[in-house]
Amino acid sequence: MQFRDLKKQYQVLKKPMDEAISKVLEASNYISGTQVAELEEKLAAYVGVKHCITCGNGTDALTLALMTWGIGEGDAVFVPDFTFFSSAETVAYEGATPVFVDVLEDTFNMDPDSLERAVKAVLAEGKLTPKVMVVVDLFGLPADYDRLQKIADQYGMYILEDGAQGFGGACKGRRVGSFGDISTTSFFPAKPLGCYGDGGAVFTDNDEWAALLKSYRIHGKGTGKYDNVRIGMNSRLDTIQAAILQVKLQAFEEYELEDVNRVAAVYTEQLKDCVKVPEIPEGYLSGWAQYSILLKDKEARDSLQAYLKEQDVPSMIYYPKGMHQQTAFAGCELYGETFKVSEDICGRVLALPLSPYLTEEDQQKVIRLIREKTGAKA
Ligand SMILES: *Cc1c(COP(=O)(O)O)cnc(C)c1O
Repeated sequence: MQFRDLKKQYQVLKKPMDEAISKVLEASNYISGTQVAELEEKLAAYVGVKHCITCGNGTDALTLALMTWGIGEGDAVFVPDFTFFSSAETVAYEGATPVFVDVLEDTFNMDPDSLERAVKAVLAEGKLTPKVMVVVDLFGLPADYDRLQKIADQYGMYILEDGAQGFGGACKGRRVGSFGDISTTSFFPAKPLGCYGDGGAVFTDNDEWAALLKSYRIHGKGTGKYDNVRIGMNSRLDTIQAAILQVKLQAFEEYELEDVNRVAAVYTEQLKDCVKVPEIPEGYLSGWAQYSILLKDKEARDSLQAYLKEQDVPSMIYYPKGMHQQTAFAGCELYGETFKVSEDICGRVLALPLSPYLTEEDQQKVIRLIREKTGAKA
């Protein structure tokens, strides 16, 4: 069994995929081919924003957003403690200070109360200026933007939506990629919309920022290729990846998002009496990057994972430690936050095999093993 079945996806999409890739090879327009601009238009329309700027990966997408806002030394950027390293790494890389915020057990997303306490603590200390909150749509579920936006407005901060795991997710008629002042995503192969290598994108409605993002991603270019007006980076999406993503986006829109939601609903229905299943609040739709359950403690989690492995069922721990526990952030100022929820779930969380292509047979095997191991009634 595959954890996320990319082989099966390729088998299903093989004919249009091979054609799309061949077309790029025949035209040999490997960088900035027409497929890139086409894809950007399609992604912007899908997400519901004015501009989509593709780039090399989801990490660069975050960096490009921070560069566009000129975030650097002396700036506080608030980041959930329970996330992938990039969400915080990019902040530190730009010379700003990541300030960690606890998350909510039910949704795994940023806890607005913890955020507000952290902002106040930073202001009280008086050394850093709160500038940005990096809001992650963890495992595919949009965060609580109603409350987070109020805090952003109150303290004059930008929202940088890290939608690397959230493509396809939605809330009240808005899609992931449209919740931030700038939003980002990743096309890493295992993400909800993945390519066949690295890729990423930045989304915004703001014309001025879109122009800056386009400049920063190609060596700070000005009017022409050899006119460089600022220090930028080289972070483009390859034409081949753009062609691949056009094929995948069509499948995603036509059936993949619906199918992965159906698979997730089966897990929820058949596991909710024996483990804590992810909660999707009323009015929300998840893009389901991961289906993560919570066991009662670390021992139960680790022994379930070993049991699944013996029976050839892959599972993953996202994430084994919080940002404040990472060696790279050792000694960082915690501003009085204790990260009780983040630390607790790191010890109890387990992600199950999930994809739009997971067969009923494989899923029933996963469910049966979990029910056996947790001693649930048959
Ligand atoms: C995957 C991921 C990223 C980084 O994306 P890459 O394309 O791998 O650079 C950033 N943030 C989160 C939350 C992610 O899951």
